[in-house]
Amino acid sequence: MLTILRKIVESVSSADSLTLAMQNLVMKTKDALGVDCCSIYVRDMSSNLLQLLATDGLDQKAVGRIALGFDEGVVGLVARTLELINLADAANNPNFKFIPGYGEEQFHSFLGVPIVDQGILLGVLVIQQKNPRKFDEIDESFMVMLAAQLAGKFLEVKLKKEMAILGKSSSKTITGLPVSKGLAQAKAFVMRPPLLLENINIEKCEDPSIQSELFHQSMFQVQLELDHLMIKLSQSTSSNNSQIFEIYNMILNDQSFVEAIDEEIFKNGIMATSAVKVVCEKYISKFKTLKDDYLKERAADVKDIAQRLLSKLAHSQVEFYDFSKPVILVADEVTASMLVELPRSSLKGIISCKGSVNSHAAILARNMGLPAIIETSDTIDQFDDHYIVMDGTTGTIIIEPDNAIKEEYEQLIETENNLRQIAEQELYQTAITLDKQQIYVELNAGMNSELESKGNFVDGVGLYRTEIPFMLQDSVLTEQEQIKNYRDFLISFKDLPVCMRTLDIGGDKQLSYLKINEANPALGWRGVRLMLDNRPLFMSQLKAMLKANIGLGNLKIMVPMISSCKEIEDTRKLLDLAYKEVKEELDLTDEQLIYPQLGAMIEVPSAVMLLEDLSKITDFFSVGTNDLTQYLLAVDRNNSRVANCYDPYHPAILKTLDYIYKECTRLNKPVSICGEMAGDYLGILLLIAIGYRKFSMNLSNIAKIKYLLRRIDISKVKQIVDQSGLTNINAIRISMRNYINEQNLTNFVLNK
Ligand code: PEP
Ligand code: MG
Repeated sequence: MLTILRKIVESVSSADSLTLAMQNLVMKTKDALGVDCCSIYVRDMSSNLLQLLATDGLDQKAVGRIALGFDEGVVGLVARTLELINLADAANNPNFKFIPGYGEEQFHSFLGVPIVDQGILLGVLVIQQKNPRKFDEIDESFMVMLAAQLAGKFLEVKLKKEMAILGKSSSKTITGLPVSKGLAQAKAFVMRPPLLLENINIEKCEDPSIQSELFHQSMFQVQLELDHLMIKLSQSTSSNNSQIFEIYNMILNDQSFVEAIDEEIFKNGIMATSAVKVVCEKYISKFKTLKDDYLKERAADVKDIAQRLLSKLAHSQVEFYDFSKPVILVADEVTASMLVELPRSSLKGIISCKGSVNSHAAILARNMGLPAIIETSDTIDQFDDHYIVMDGTTGTIIIEPDNAIKEEYEQLIETENNLRQIAEQELYQTAITLDKQQIYVELNAGMNSELESKGNFVDGVGLYRTEIPFMLQDSVLTEQEQIKNYRDFLISFKDLPVCMRTLDIGGDKQLSYLKINEANPALGWRGVRLMLDNRPLFMSQLKAMLKANIGLGNLKIMVPMISSCKEIEDTRKLLDLAYKEVKEELDLTDEQLIYPQLGAMIEVPSAVMLLEDLSKITDFFSVGTNDLTQYLLAVDRNNSRVANCYDPYHPAILKTLDYIYKECTRLNKPVSICGEMAGDYLGILLLIAIGYRKFSMNLSNIAKIKYLLRRIDISKVKQIVDQSGLTNINAIRISMRNYINEQNLTNFVLNK
């Protein structure tokens, strides 16, 4: 058998074309195993369909015509599970999908194996037999070994084919992890993080006067930034801080410091960044040699000034770029602040070489409705100045595509825009299902974008992530700044409930000015824990929220990462105190200062087990499925190595969500869902089947989800879930997809 196997593999690798190689493969495998049919399905990375590439047994007409989704047929089952499937009578399997006209009816037994390379499915190899019998272990091991050997060869042949195409054009295709759906094509704008002082190279420049101008602008900005910091610091503490900034002011106002940098730029013809390095390093070493300990320590201040100058100089990258044309943002690690820094109208997509599905940047991309791909395992340099097309559904990126591909993408983007426009026509309609039940669709907000504050297209705001504005700034927001933010937002959604979440910092949501170094950040000092330890910060936020709500009354407050009753009790005490202080400070009556509802996020397993106790001290619950998935499955939501284990449709999650709903109904406590699952078509349908009726989701999902909800029948959705049971997600997925198909909704929910 091993000799036969080797021969088959050799014939595949020596073939001149992929088609020929695959034809050889199916013919030789069929003969070697003495079966009636052998076929190979290859995954098309752009459509994510399994296309029949070669067959010896089925009608040849089927080649290139049969294309199966991962949730279609037994072949789809192999692709989904990445497991060998051996069936005596495939037609009796619930997954079986009969495609008439290609002669498949004559075959009963089925054996399919996945072809996988580095965890990525490339195709499925199938053998079939007319008489209904299970294939034996020898057949199984032959197929498994063949698939394993093919994975490498397969790639080689495919690559040869792609190289042939690449020979004619200069395009390059790479893949990454798709995290936000949609298509985009534009020039890449590669954004680099500010350089570290120690990593700067001394580089020559072409035009010293431009470099000098950039340097002077940066000086001015750093000065402004520091003035701002000083004012804030004096507002938040009573002590005299002027000493802290003594050296900063001294250096920034020191003419010889400025002249020294200018001299480096003009005399030596070097970049502004290089000149900053040369001069600042001289200052740093001078300070370090001083005898006075206090002054010695000031070397760190000089370093900070240098770093701030470098950051401003890197920022000029954005300032001087021509954003009149669309761009796709590429960065080693896209951050939330990068996303807001670029003009929204020109930003068409995001590529982050590092990252994870539920990192904040990915959530923000989905929030902004921008296609995003992460984990490209390539360096950013290869994107520099190149035109790219990207598909956020499959994770495909083509650098310098040829005209045919560009045109194809243009058409696809147009179709996508048309579908979005169709859905948006009903944006302001209520989400009432065919069987006349109302589903409450709320917004997840925090970006403070213009669109977010358009008000009445939703039934409220289920989650306002207050940490986002904190993440986008260089320092903590003052109480006044917070009041302004919150009040503007509450006014935009006047008459609708707005649920503001108290700061959820820590974990993956780090503030640049509050670095927390922990071995296990997700299990560390984050959310309510951090806030209860930082009472002034917590109090200033609670007071800002209460003040912002005066005369409006639509504020609700929600606390993240609750894992015990004590955390809610302590928060309640602070809220009571904040209420009392604001009332006294502004001389208000009980009627004038409304005491808001206080809710708990259910996202830590212990909170699930405490629902009854928590229900006595809270007014509502909101389930955060993103963290609940992370903590229930013990899978870091930001670790790409275990991304395949991060599964919100895991039976344990679905059963927990079912339990939470039942408990809340028994306790008569309002509950809603605000994790990413609510914005996914399968997620929301499943949750509706469980019983949930209130969901909060990203702006970009609202129109599509409302359009879907207005065209489904809850009794039918419930029937699908009840029939399969919550533990059989594959069966639910297939039946739900069929139902979506019947309702002509496939394009709206599956392809985008
Ligand atoms: C969640 O955990 O589901 C959630 C909504 O909060 P975040 O994603 O901001 O942690
Ligand atoms: Mg969370």
